[in-house]
Amino acid sequence: MTAGTESSTRWPPIPKNVRALAVPPNLVDYDETCAAFTWDEARHALSGLPGNRGLNIAYEAVDRHAAGARARHEALRFVRGDGTTHSLTYAQLAEQTGRFASVLRGLGIGRGDRVFSLLGRVPALYIAVLGTFKNASVFCPLFSAFGPEPVRQRLQLGGGRALVTTRALYRKKVAPIRDRLPDLRYVFLVDADGHPEPDTLDLAALLLEAPPYGEIAATQGEDMALLHFTSGTTGTPKGAVHVHDAVTAHYATGRFALDLHQDDVYWCTADPGWVTGTSYGIIAPLAHGVTAIVDEEELDADRWYRVLAEQRVTVWYTAPTALRMLMKAGADRAAGHDLTALRFVASVGEPLNPEVVMWGQEAFGQPIHDNWWQTETGGIMIANYAATPIRPGSMGRPLPGVEAALVARDELGAPVMRGGEVVLVTEPDALGELALRPGWPSMFRGYLGEEERYRRAFVGGWYLSGDLARRDSDGYYWFVGRGDDVIKSSGHLIGPFEVESSLMEHEAVAEAGVIGIPDPVAGEVVKAFVELKPGWEPSEALRLDIIGFARKRLGPAVAPRELDFTASLPKTRSGKILRRLLKARELGLPEGDTSTVEVPR
Ligand code: ATP
Ligand code: MG
Repeated sequence: MTAGTESSTRWPPIPKNVRALAVPPNLVDYDETCAAFTWDEARHALSGLPGNRGLNIAYEAVDRHAAGARARHEALRFVRGDGTTHSLTYAQLAEQTGRFASVLRGLGIGRGDRVFSLLGRVPALYIAVLGTFKNASVFCPLFSAFGPEPVRQRLQLGGGRALVTTRALYRKKVAPIRDRLPDLRYVFLVDADGHPEPDTLDLAALLLEAPPYGEIAATQGEDMALLHFTSGTTGTPKGAVHVHDAVTAHYATGRFALDLHQDDVYWCTADPGWVTGTSYGIIAPLAHGVTAIVDEEELDADRWYRVLAEQRVTVWYTAPTALRMLMKAGADRAAGHDLTALRFVASVGEPLNPEVVMWGQEAFGQPIHDNWWQTETGGIMIANYAATPIRPGSMGRPLPGVEAALVARDELGAPVMRGGEVVLVTEPDALGELALRPGWPSMFRGYLGEEERYRRAFVGGWYLSGDLARRDSDGYYWFVGRGDDVIKSSGHLIGPFEVESSLMEHEAVAEAGVIGIPDPVAGEVVKAFVELKPGWEPSEALRLDIIGFARKRLGPAVAPRELDFTASLPKTRSGKILRRLLKARELGLPEGDTSTVEVPR
């Protein structure tokens, strides 16, 4: 049982007029496309390594374009802090990544060896990722703001043999832990400028000397390509293993869920330290041969509007936390910028409040398309599409080739089994754990060093995501909450998202995080932490007003019983509200793994 179906009923669906869209969408008829789709067929959109030597992400993303008509097309366009840009064409990227592969090979770094990065969004990062694939080595991008301990843990778990970083990051974060990392043989500095630190190498000098075109090593679809750590929202981050065949899913989902077309100028705001920034900040756009924008700076409302306008971005993939931040700054901030090039906006990472979807209409002249996936799924699994109506608050419907279901859970949260099979929830709007039928190409192939945990993620032929959702009678999925976050109050199961979205509809509320706190009568009651919009001051009257507002919308059983104002909600560095931290702080419990916690600027 869930509380209410508020979000599904209050907001009217946003229809789409396919004929009025500036560019004909790749997916027009959802049911027809799903019925016709197979992953084998999807592989035909890729080239495969010349001479039938297998499949390699770097060839699909770079060299096949460099060898053809798109050689001089801009592959990556970097926007510097001062707004100026510098670009790499597909041909230049092919050459640079070839040189990087040659450097690795020259040092004896080979097949399956792990190459890490600790870098901001600079060209060397992109060259290193793709060059590593060319050498059949495995890449693991780390977020540059990690402290020394999270860096050490991940390098150690991943058995990092090489690391690409900057002088400043090396001095601050790697030098102090280097002697505890015996596997780490080579550290490349991207800015050594002829003077590397002791025990490091000058990457620019090595690239110059390396033979310009290293041949791409033969890799097969099932060969490991990437190691990605999860966001650490629910606990210690897990290392998810991905293979070269993931590019099949990146290409297909780029086509259907992001509606990529060859002439697009596409901007994914995620950092490659998180899976979105690699799958959709590097692989998907390049596999499509489009121009990908990379902003070297951090989130700032005016700057982002400038980048959208000045770079003439056509397709934009971002996150709810960033959108809520822009919303907090006010839609009028968008007004002075020419956003007419923008034709498709998508969001991932957290539930997207209906309020934000509607605001998109005001700020960008179009709704925002929510989609759902995880580090483990490697690519988008459930999405709203360019051509299909949006139901604000819903994540949309499964991608072609993706079979999703809801698995019934017992009182303790375990899947309900009957005769060796999991019991699926089939009635509309009922709650279940979101599950996927294994077989999509970007599925993770392991949690590094945690075989048992990986095994436990699959039950009765389904991958269990750990997220709870509902599905309406038309097949749209509605996120309820993470299994760990749902609140059990007087027999109701309350999803924090529904409560947070209602709070956000109050004129004073910029963002909200909701948890359950123990209550002797109800078991748990709802407590909200609320960040106010500029111009609003915390007061007892406002507190009562917001609670009253939520009670009217949600009813007394679901509305927050308690509400605190906060200057900023704790978040992961990838922008997710850390409810487990709100709860630990509220209850005076240990905070657990804090390696990915964003430190407020
Ligand atoms: P950890 O697994 O370490 O706790 P995490 O789950 O946040 O961290 P990610 O793999 O980066 O790590 O995030 C995936 C999760 O993000 C999903 O399982 C889901 O809970 C949430 N999420 C992603 N997209 C959406 C969305 N569109 N709506 C709701 N939730 C989403
Ligand atoms: Mg997770």
